[in-house]
Amino acid sequence: MTEFRSPYPLPAIPDDMSIPQFMFSSDFRKRPNRPTNVPFFIEDDTGRPIDFFQVHERTNGLANALSIKWNIGKDDIVCIFSPNHVDYAVAIWAVHTLGGVVTPANPGYTTDELSHQLRTTEARLIITHPSSLAIARSAALAVGMAIDRIVILNDNSHLPDSEASVDDLVEFGARKPVSYLVQRFKSGEARTRLAFLSFSSGTTGKPKAVAIPHYSVIANIIQMATHYRLHDPAWTDKRMNPGDIAIAVLPFFHIYGLVVIMHYLLFCGMSLVVVPKFNLADFLRSVVRHRVTHLYVVPPQIVLLCKHPSVKIYNFKHVKFCMSGAAPLSGELMKKMAEVLPNAVIGQGYGLTETSTSISNVSPDQKFGTIGSAGKLIPGVVARVIKHDGSFAAEGERGELMVSGPSIALGYYKNPEATKETFVDGWVHTGDEVIIKDLEVFIVDRIKEIIKVKGFQVAPAELEGHLLLHPAVIDACVVGIPDEYSGELPLAYVVLNPEVRQHSRDLKNASILKTAIAQHVSDSKVHYKWLRGGIEFIDVIPKNPSGKILRRVLRERARATKVIS
Ligand code: AMP
Repeated sequence: MTEFRSPYPLPAIPDDMSIPQFMFSSDFRKRPNRPTNVPFFIEDDTGRPIDFFQVHERTNGLANALSIKWNIGKDDIVCIFSPNHVDYAVAIWAVHTLGGVVTPANPGYTTDELSHQLRTTEARLIITHPSSLAIARSAALAVGMAIDRIVILNDNSHLPDSEASVDDLVEFGARKPVSYLVQRFKSGEARTRLAFLSFSSGTTGKPKAVAIPHYSVIANIIQMATHYRLHDPAWTDKRMNPGDIAIAVLPFFHIYGLVVIMHYLLFCGMSLVVVPKFNLADFLRSVVRHRVTHLYVVPPQIVLLCKHPSVKIYNFKHVKFCMSGAAPLSGELMKKMAEVLPNAVIGQGYGLTETSTSISNVSPDQKFGTIGSAGKLIPGVVARVIKHDGSFAAEGERGELMVSGPSIALGYYKNPEATKETFVDGWVHTGDEVIIKDLEVFIVDRIKEIIKVKGFQVAPAELEGHLLLHPAVIDACVVGIPDEYSGELPLAYVVLNPEVRQHSRDLKNASILKTAIAQHVSDSKVHYKWLRGGIEFIDVIPKNPSGKILRRVLRERARATKVIS
């Protein structure tokens, strides 16, 4: 049996601490020291720095207010539905301090999508942003949550009086006597006490809430720190140093932004420039204005950085590190990126929501990651590669990657059936086909259903279910087709009901119907799920004798014809 693992030893991981205790503790052994003048967060627009003490005080003030006003406590679930914000971490850690659980939601979600998340998690409160407030209100209404259970993160705009704001709550909480007991875990308890319910569709089916305990996040932070030899005095070429500045433009609601950027980089003593929304021109200006040293990006942003003419007018000499993740990055783009960022280490990281992010990261001794490699296995990860015939692949052979380690999640929340399929005896089925060589992971294909659009997950089953709600559709299959910018785009194969089918033989009618079906999706789903890959009418969806869609057949057909309607 071949197993792959880093030979580098992993230090003990505390299993009696919550995430905020870990993040705020100064005595966690050998943690990189943050000089007092190095802020946690920098507000992108204004340049306003927010230091450790402010973050700590705000967390405690908000925790007290959430406890007094809504009695938030052990295992209560709070949804954060917001773009990146300097108080995002404060909101998370306040909930954790009370023993509660955070479910982060995409601020681009429609009412239907947010309602689904609120229902699945039975969230008791929503912390949102003025730009997402309308949807937060309608989703709260849809799930029967009282409107006074919405809290708003402050921005510079005028806030409505109807909802409480985080600033007011922090101030209220700081004035009142402390009403809560800080949750302290017994030895081992952090392994099972939930910190996050993050959404992923796993290897099959619709999006599900991944149950991530405190221990898994803390473990992943320590694993990454160990990978980059942060605590090894003999290792001089440290990649992350106290005082370095990263741009936090990737969304905090996604596991990459949440664990790697928000938690790991802060742990390293770095500062985060918090950017609510990606826009190339503003991004370039921010990187230069704040003298950003670390870029954490997804491949579509790399495409823009490599190809957009406006990039040439900037000098990025201060950028020391650039990490791409969440989707595959081609060797050509990596090489072009090295021209744009002449002084930066360029490489990839790879991980999943189900593993609380990182499985592999660019090797700490490389200035330029191996072409095609999604990085080296980080300490603590054990990997197996299973061939199609069920046997173990040797080094250099391809098969499905299965991983085990301290950061893997507990399973899917209240969904034992789905949990059984993906989390098997302590191993996570990644659904990714890989080759491992010298502990480097080369992702050669994705065998699970999900489509990745700009690094975001699109679950075909979710779109197929929604397409069936359209009166003209009797069956559907959604697959991804390659796209240079987005990575993939969803394409729907649709079987029309017989009456409509006859009518749609006429080209004009077919085109009107396709527009209507596309609209049916875009009315209810966030933008990256829209059928930008097109819609194809088909007589029958190929299925195996037990009725399972033969997705690969249609995926190959789509790739061969690259149909764009
Ligand atoms: P998520 O849970 O949204 O982070 O999605 C995890 C999936 O994203 C993985 O199973 C991979 O299919 C894909 N992924 C993440 N990082 C990479 C990478 N560096 N290269 C290729 N695919 C990746």
